[in-house]
Amino acid sequence: MVVGAGLAGLTTADALHAAGLAVTVVEARPSIGGRIKTLVEGDSWLDLGATWHWSNQSHIRSLAAELGMEAFPQFRDGRAVAEEAQNVAPRLVDVPPPSPAELRFAGGAQALCHRLAGRLPAQAVVLSTDVVAISAETSGVHVSVADRDGRESKLSSRFAVVAVPPRLAWAGITFTPALPDALADAMQGTPTWMATAVKCIAVYDSPFWRDAGLSGLAFSRVGPLVEVHDGCTDDGSTAVLWGFLSAGHDVRDLDVERRTEAVFAQLGRLFGPEAADPVRYYERDWSNDPYTNDVVVWFDDPVAYGHPAFAEPLFGGRLIWAGTETADVGAGHMEGAVRSGRRAAAQVLALQQ
Ligand SMILES: Cc1cc2nc3c(=O)[nH]c(=O)nc-3n(C[C@H](O)[C@H](O)[C@H](O)COP(=O)(O)OP(=O)(O)OC[C@H]3O[C@@H](n4cnc5c(N)ncnc54)[C@H](O)[C@@H]3O)c2cc1C
Repeated sequence: MVVGAGLAGLTTADALHAAGLAVTVVEARPSIGGRIKTLVEGDSWLDLGATWHWSNQSHIRSLAAELGMEAFPQFRDGRAVAEEAQNVAPRLVDVPPPSPAELRFAGGAQALCHRLAGRLPAQAVVLSTDVVAISAETSGVHVSVADRDGRESKLSSRFAVVAVPPRLAWAGITFTPALPDALADAMQGTPTWMATAVKCIAVYDSPFWRDAGLSGLAFSRVGPLVEVHDGCTDDGSTAVLWGFLSAGHDVRDLDVERRTEAVFAQLGRLFGPEAADPVRYYERDWSNDPYTNDVVVWFDDPVAYGHPAFAEPLFGGRLIWAGTETADVGAGHMEGAVRSGRRAAAQVLALQQ
């Protein structure tokens, strides 16, 4: 059994299924993908969670290629806007192209998860079901699950791969026997990547900033957005500017209406009056998403990911960890999710022999 149908859990399940094992993925949300979420409306799509992968990330790139996902470079042509202080007009700056290159998935990143799940047998992914307890026995694991109505039942499996952000697994799943102290500390001390992010997305009739020689990239010390990016679809049919809300900015405490006003005003300052009047606007607050975050914790940087305790199967191999935060390389990113999923599957397969 795999707990969590994010990219890590689906990668694990895919590898196990390919090796001939029967696998069930239990997912708390009503949909797969976890922190990879694409809003699809007709021909238009918007990534509400993960956006980029990078040209030097070999695991996500190889998986995407295998699944026939097309990638395109992040639009960076033209100048960027820097807003350095309150009541000081933003100025235009040159920004060198990123190295390694930033890439986006055509059609949105969640298609990656749908294609992975599409390789699993029908019914392999059980949605809207929380794993609440895992008990390791000599012959396998008993997994207690609760459906949306709170009805609990027990499932059995030879092993459980927990592909849930470690802090959330610690807060939401009761493990028996108790987890070793070092592992428990590592779980609580590992922040969930981007768990405090609020992504603000403005859709326009056309990418007018491109016509003005702007890349859509902006940096701000004023806020509420700290950075802004061009998020147009690869075919240019949907024109988008999106940004992250500053971690500390007080607009987080405002109601959505007033926060939206502040975001529009800032977009207007950065890109001109047209930017202050989008045709559609979306906000995705990951900090209040119960399947990403337990409580909002602001960790001091730098934070260590990929604690060695996550690489050790527990209870004779009954319990194995996956999830981007457990990866020793690429942690936090989709790259880390794929790496951790492949590592977890290899551990299960080695232990089955
Ligand atoms: C706003 C935002 C922007 C990002 N931008 C990027 C980016 O540009 N590039 C990049 O590489 N990465 C980015 N990331 C990070 C990227 O999304 C993650 O690295 C990746 O999706 C993690 O996958 P995962 O499977 O490890 O975890 P998750 O996606 O968190 O999956 C865990 C799954 O477990 C489920 N779950 C939780 N608890 C339970 C339970 N008790 N029982 C059953 N299921 C449970 C959850 O619902 C979820 O589906 C971003 C993330 C966010 C939020």
